[in-house]
Amino acid sequence: METSPEPTQRFYAIAAAAIILLSVLFASYVFSDRRALLEAGEETARQIAEQTALVADGELAATRQLLVSMAILIRPPGAAGKVSPAAVRSTLLKLRGQNPYIMDLLVVEQTGRVECWTGNGAPPDVRDRSYFTAHAGLADTGLHVGPPLRSKVHRGRWFFALSEALRNADGTIDRILVTIVDVALLRDHIGVRMAIPDSSQSLISEAGIIYTRRPDHDLHVGHSVSRLRELSSLTANEPGLTIRTVSQVDGLDRILSYRRLRDFPLIATGSVLIERVLEPWQQRTAIVGAVFVALSLVILWIAHRGVQVNRFLSELASIDSLTGIFNRRSIISTASRLERSQEHVGSLSLLMVDIDHFKAVNDRFGHLVGDEVLRQVSHVLTTQCRGTDIVGRFGGEEFLVLMPDTGEEGARRLAEKLREAIESRVVQPVQVTISVGVATTSEFDQTLDRTLARADEALYAAKEAGRNCVRIAKSALPKAHEPPAGTG
Ligand code: GH3
Ligand code: MG
Ligand code: MG
Repeated sequence: METSPEPTQRFYAIAAAAIILLSVLFASYVFSDRRALLEAGEETARQIAEQTALVADGELAATRQLLVSMAILIRPPGAAGKVSPAAVRSTLLKLRGQNPYIMDLLVVEQTGRVECWTGNGAPPDVRDRSYFTAHAGLADTGLHVGPPLRSKVHRGRWFFALSEALRNADGTIDRILVTIVDVALLRDHIGVRMAIPDSSQSLISEAGIIYTRRPDHDLHVGHSVSRLRELSSLTANEPGLTIRTVSQVDGLDRILSYRRLRDFPLIATGSVLIERVLEPWQQRTAIVGAVFVALSLVILWIAHRGVQVNRFLSELASIDSLTGIFNRRSIISTASRLERSQEHVGSLSLLMVDIDHFKAVNDRFGHLVGDEVLRQVSHVLTTQCRGTDIVGRFGGEEFLVLMPDTGEEGARRLAEKLREAIESRVVQPVQVTISVGVATTSEFDQTLDRTLARADEALYAAKEAGRNCVRIAKSALPKAHEPPAGTG
């Protein structure tokens, strides 16, 4: 007897819904966890850039003080007399000596001639230097920070010029005051101690030229990045910008933050490696993913067990506990299903089987022996009928055998075979016989009950005929010809 597919489908549908719900939860957790980590990474990059800008602003402001000192030296306030070149030079040398990052100080005339410097020997021609062209040109913006260059004078050290023009009352240039600063000033001080592996920080010009970068300053100093679109979007009002990008410096995926210095035309950057930022996310996703898979498997297992238990219970409900064959409820439902599906009327036969004088067996040998006889009869019936036939216990010591695709004559022969088998096989501890009534479905049987009733009548006839025999039910009559109740 098969179980209905509906409970099975319901179990698996509930399991599928639970797994879908679980995967939605999993996906949204994974997604929001990743977003939170990236946002935290952006914040970190921003902080690195801001601290780098703050430190660089401070260091450059201290250097700018030298320009102020030089201006006072060249044009002492209130003093009328001109300071001698020798005195200027000795003061400049003193100023340089106090500051290890200052490589040279220069006072340049409006014509480009070096009036005084801290170097030895003849001063160089500086008319092509950026600090001269920047101030001499029309677009002088005041303070000038030159690009990083490698010094010819100071054994290949990298420097940049910080300069300002000293102007006359009519706006014409009086002198250009220049400090030549070792880029180590920036390199040594920007190192914000952040315990973030693979983070980076740098200082670049608005044109993208690198003054210093941590790590690997020596590899990058003087090189350019071409982030001009991003850099040009930084303004005094909007001094910061954070993007996710492939680093132009090391080719790695980074969260990169820019921060314009407050007082100098330079830009600080801070960056963190996206891979590093997402490391905890990857670990958590692996763990949560494993939990998700495990939970899904548990859900599927529970559904599978549910289906099995359901199947077992419905089988249990359809089995007679004493004999192990179908009980009355399930043999009748199978009979009506077979009746509905029979190809043509007359192709399904029912055998109503009753053990003869069974009461006497109980009376003489006791109920336990009676039960044993019932089990033996069930066993013989099920093993002796064909594979397509179905045997059930109809009640008490009565059995119903369903024979699909079997007409009246075939059913009679099979009934006879069963009768003989019981007589010859059920002999211990007591021999029993059966009486059998055979009915085949008829076009005049309105219902299965009607066919069952005819089988029962045939069984009664077999009992009447002396038992241990087979009787065929009388042909069914059209409804109009049925004898009125109580006259049979
Ligand atoms: P007949 O040849 O006319 O069928 O006589 P019978 O004695 O077999 O019929 P009757 O209906 O008088 O008795 C049936 C007996 O079957 C009565 C009842 O105690 C017994 N019986 C019904 N169910 C069980 C059962 O589960 N176990 C046992 N041991 N006996 C049962
Ligand atoms: Mg009976
Ligand atoms: Mg009986």
